[in-house]
Amino acid sequence: MRVLIVEDEPQLARHLATALEGAGHQPCIAHDGEEALTVALGGDFDLLVLDVNLPRLGGFEILKRVRAAHLTVRAIMLTARGEVEDRVRGLQLGADDYLAKPFAMAELLARIEALGRRFPAEPQKVLRVGDLSLDLETREALRGGRCIEFSAREFALLKLLMREPGRVFSRTELCERVWEREHEYDTKLVEVFIGRLRRKIDEESDAPLIHTVRHAGYKIEAS
Ligand code: CA
Repeated sequence: MRVLIVEDEPQLARHLATALEGAGHQPCIAHDGEEALTVALGGDFDLLVLDVNLPRLGGFEILKRVRAAHLTVRAIMLTARGEVEDRVRGLQLGADDYLAKPFAMAELLARIEALGRRFPAEPQKVLRVGDLSLDLETREALRGGRCIEFSAREFALLKLLMREPGRVFSRTELCERVWEREHEYDTKLVEVFIGRLRRKIDEESDAPLIHTVRHAGYKIEAS
């Protein structure tokens, strides 16, 4: 997990980072509250380890603003020992867990692992390539303000391409993965469906996203 450690005691912050790294995570450290908020809002973190008492901006305020920004990042608060009010307040503001200082590093690591099991990482709901976005729940795409609808096979084909922008898929691979081998050798079918996607996605745009790669196949990529 990508973890942002927000802790103003340099030695403890370093100690936390080393332990997290040892457990296979990618830690990043912020020492004061304002810096932490900027980093948290701009970065793509899975978890915040958030001290309550911080210079410039406190841990509760950071949590409040992170939740107001609808970030789905998980948060563990580091509270002072015995401060029941702190724990309650943290949980009310959207913390997922808390740990009272001083704590054993092994306990923090165990809590982090438990959080990972309780909330498996959310699967991506929207795929984007250039100005095209595809909503995997509604199966609708948006491009240049236009809403585009797809048949089930068109959607499956587009989703496959958009999951790996820039990668070239051969006709055979597309056929196998979208039509599940039914039409393994009927690669003409792929051409037909690529044609349909092009009409829906690229026809009204002067920056086509779907590209033919000679003797190789197709890819989707923003120029
Ligand atoms: Ca502190």
